Amino acid sequence: MSIDSVRLTDVRKTFNGHEVIKGVSLEVKKGELVVFVGPSGCGKSTLLRLIAGLETPTSGQIDISGRDVTYAHPSKRGVAMVFQSYALYPHMTVFDNIAFALKIQGLPKDEITHKVNAAAETLQLTHLLRRRPKALSGGQRQRVAIGRAIVREPDVFLFDEPLSNLDAALRGQMRVEIARLHTKLNATSVYVTHDQVEAMTLADKIVVLNAGRIEQVGSPLDLYRKPANLFVAGFIGSPR
Ligand code: ADP
Ligand code: MG
Repeated sequence: MSIDSVRLTDVRKTFNGHEVIKGVSLEVKKGELVVFVGPSGCGKSTLLRLIAGLETPTSGQIDISGRDVTYAHPSKRGVAMVFQSYALYPHMTVFDNIAFALKIQGLPKDEITHKVNAAAETLQLTHLLRRRPKALSGGQRQRVAIGRAIVREPDVFLFDEPLSNLDAALRGQMRVEIARLHTKLNATSVYVTHDQVEAMTLADKIVVLNAGRIEQVGSPLDLYRKPANLFVAGFIGSPR
């Protein structure tokens, strides 16, 4: 029996008496790139933060790599998250930004250097390692943010709208890069976006969310050909 990389079982989350995640169950298999898509406010980020351990569910269970991590600390889940806002340290060089988590882990210096250099090469950042974030373009900053996740060698990558601050042309280019990276690293990824085109082009499997519930799960082709309802049809069928 193969173990799912991520499994949510009837996960619910209430904020201030208001239920924003209303019983979500789903599986992400090893090597899959699963995209959560849905309108603003439907609970995509909350779901990702629950997987990352930045929030705790009100009820339900979260397993990662076959282990119940529902109440585990974020650092003990084998996940790494890439945010929209990059969240880079402005006073640190690219090298130090990428190395940061490894230094906290207390890895030996030469091992850190090796891992950072390997990640930089994968992301075409080698020539930028001594720069600070403000001297980088938006796309380069986003690559540094991805580098920070890669060096931690997580079981699961979590992306929260990583491209939404970029202009359209760069977004298309980074989308291709993320797909290439996912394949190259043989990664397991959960990717959140409100952009249907991004979802349709990146996903092995799409999870359509609406007001804290799953409307449909399927391949891009499944959803396109056989939308379960008008919401899915409207959302998938009308790219911007
Ligand atoms: P999405 O990422 O799909 O835009 P979110 O997961 O950010 O949606 O938010 C879903 C709902 O939960 C929204 O109504 C939002 O206001 C609410 N919410 C998210 N985080 C919190 C919080 N920490 N406290 C109170 N409400 C929150
Ligand atoms: Mg969000």
